[in-house]
Amino acid sequence: MPDLTPDELERYSRQIGPGVLSLDGQQRLRCSTALVTRAGGMGGPAALMLAMAGVGRLIVAHGGHLISPDLNRQVLGSEQGLGKPRAAEFAAYLRGMNRFVQVEPLDYEPDDDQALELAARCDVILSCPPTFEERLRLNRAAVITGTPLIDAAQWGMTGTLIVVRPGETACLECVYPAPPPFEELFPVVGAISSATGSLAALEAIKILSQTGRPLWGRMFTYDGYHGRATAVQLQRRPQCPRCGAAARGA
Ligand SMILES: [Zn+2]
Repeated sequence: MPDLTPDELERYSRQIGPGVLSLDGQQRLRCSTALVTRAGGMGGPAALMLAMAGVGRLIVAHGGHLISPDLNRQVLGSEQGLGKPRAAEFAAYLRGMNRFVQVEPLDYEPDDDQALELAARCDVILSCPPTFEERLRLNRAAVITGTPLIDAAQWGMTGTLIVVRPGETACLECVYPAPPPFEELFPVVGAISSATGSLAALEAIKILSQTGRPLWGRMFTYDGYHGRATAVQLQRRPQCPRCGAAARGA
């Protein structure tokens, strides 16, 4: 791994040391690629924290144009960005926060083949879409390519993370044999989106830099409405259609 430059060392000086990252860990971050899709209420703060922490390459996928209801939570957007394509706006914001990282915007949500190709190019996937279909697609790409996956979800004032080490811990389809109910315009408060996205980023930073104990195989939930946090150990399902014995051809 190439050494960090003096400018980079200065930038990251507050996060290198006891209880945070090692110098090697910081270098590992710089040599890493993370995929964040989508980059709205949860994925936006996640991408921002990864950029500021010094993840070397960020692939940020989000289609469509910024609209007013996005601005209760999509921190990479702005009043000036209303009506403009989200991906380019978000990438410009991220680049403006850290000149040491590369940002690759994608102005669409990846399909099955694209998700596979992207997963193969990255070291961690932060799955932050609103639809279960997209979450399943990213789970599939993660399991096939063996790429660590952080699945982030939100509803109202509750945020949930599932951290998957493919082949070793439960995947999303182990946890949800059938899709949960979906609302197109579900309620959500920006503060929980941002908190959930930031915690997803923290897990990614830990995984990429080999720091601390990632939430492998666990579901972490913060129910902000009732003020309760829980972390549940998840079990793999041998008959899981995605990562079970039959799926592996065993
Ligand atoms: Zn599974």
